[in-house]
Amino acid sequence: MLLDELKNIVGPKAWTNDEAALEPHLTEWRGAVRGRTPIMVSPANTDEVAAVVKACAAARVGIVPQGGNTGMCAGAVPDDSGTQVILSLSRLNRIRAINVQDFSLVAEAGCILASIQEAARSAGRYFPLSLGGEGSCQIGGNLATNAGGINVIRYGTARDLALGLEVVLADGAVWNGIRTVRKDTAGYDLKQLFIGSEGTLGIITAAAVKLFPNPGATTTALIALNSADDAVTLLSELRVALADRIEAFELIGSRAFELVRRHIPNTRLPFESPYDWFILVEAAVDPDQEELQNLLLQAARLGTIEDAAIAKSVQEAGQFWRMRHSISAAEKLEGASLKHDISVPTDRINAFLSSGKHRIEERIPDASLVVFGHVGDGNLHYNLHVPTGFQELATQIVYELVAELGGSISAEHGVGVLKKTALLTYKSEQDLNLMRSLKMTLDPLKILNPGKVI
Ligand SMILES: Cc1cc2nc3c(=O)[nH]c(=O)nc-3n(C[C@H](O)[C@H](O)[C@H](O)COP(=O)(O)OP(=O)(O)OC[C@H]3O[C@@H](n4cnc5c(N)ncnc54)[C@H](O)[C@@H]3O)c2cc1C
Repeated sequence: MLLDELKNIVGPKAWTNDEAALEPHLTEWRGAVRGRTPIMVSPANTDEVAAVVKACAAARVGIVPQGGNTGMCAGAVPDDSGTQVILSLSRLNRIRAINVQDFSLVAEAGCILASIQEAARSAGRYFPLSLGGEGSCQIGGNLATNAGGINVIRYGTARDLALGLEVVLADGAVWNGIRTVRKDTAGYDLKQLFIGSEGTLGIITAAAVKLFPNPGATTTALIALNSADDAVTLLSELRVALADRIEAFELIGSRAFELVRRHIPNTRLPFESPYDWFILVEAAVDPDQEELQNLLLQAARLGTIEDAAIAKSVQEAGQFWRMRHSISAAEKLEGASLKHDISVPTDRINAFLSSGKHRIEERIPDASLVVFGHVGDGNLHYNLHVPTGFQELATQIVYELVAELGGSISAEHGVGVLKKTALLTYKSEQDLNLMRSLKMTLDPLKILNPGKVI
């Protein structure tokens, strides 16, 4: 009955129960979790999303909102009960408005992130959210996970870029919170409840986001270091010297680049000697003025850095970024590993890296580490290959250290299914109880992405 109702709501071409068509929607990006579903529906607009939610609420059937399914915590795939409906946002893909004077853009949730960047660029503006999955992830998914990416250091996370949301609530009502006003202290900031809630409190159908002036000429450099300590020192020196005109500042361990060179064609480092660590920095400074070059020369004289290659063209900068963005794909090709997406205050990164390595080496034989991340945000992807039987211990070592250093077990990928148990361990009982009461208030029937987050 429900299935017929859903088919009627979205029309004949916008649902499927075909096994082959469903396959990519049942497995998360790394293939670690696989679910089942009786149907995937792809509504064309907000009213259809609302009707689908209303019908599922009446039948008490769980709904799993799915964007680009690039999430790293299996939040967008159904469980294995075979009862949960997948609600794909991919047909809600219109840019509703761009206002150049207001520096704002309104897009439907299913717009691919890269298409929003392009729409902003065509209008002479800049949308700074940028991450490896930008060719397939959607703005709704970005907001639902509070995505970060490479430009957080200057522009903040998805949460900081949101001005307003349109959300279908658990009873099928539409909350119209699309506004572009920047200052609003009239009551609670309701949109922030839905951002980062991974589809468990409401289904985002559209968003108003901030645009920025184009940063103009940028200088990109790949820098070699022998110690990660120096990365934090360099970052703080460049932040001061460039008055925060740093667009991105990525730390990459040598093993991460080793995997990229092994698995991704046409990738090579511009250095003759081997180094332990690399920084990929992009600064909003004109390369012709040699501002960044001079600062790096000074850092080399002081011994903070070992070597640096400044991109001589947009193409060369693109090659540096291609290597950085290929790390996740190269890791996937290398085989399964334990992924930790952690953050600590930036001044504790060195403590985290040195104690982490020490504790892992002491207790786990033959562990190998792949480390990279957005060091300017204190966020590291700290991934481990460990022998069978040591996975649980490895994650415990990492998360305990993160807790000691006042960090977070999930800096940008969210919780989904994969970090649910860890959330229960590392969040306080008070935090968890507040989260549970919000869930009960906004989704009393527990039909929105059941089994995820809390
Ligand atoms: C190569 C690669 C690199 C990546 N790099 C980064 C990075 O640097 N930074 C970063 O933060 N992430 C990164 N990610 C992870 C991922 O791209 C982000 O989490 C992204 O924001 C997910 O968007 P999506 O549309 O794919 O969402 P999905 O994976 O489809 O969904 C993610 C979660 O959001 C929910 N959801 C999706 N759409 C909606 C909606 N409209 N309303 C309510 N809930 C919804 C889903 O139910 C699920 O719980 C990377 C992924 C890949 C594959």
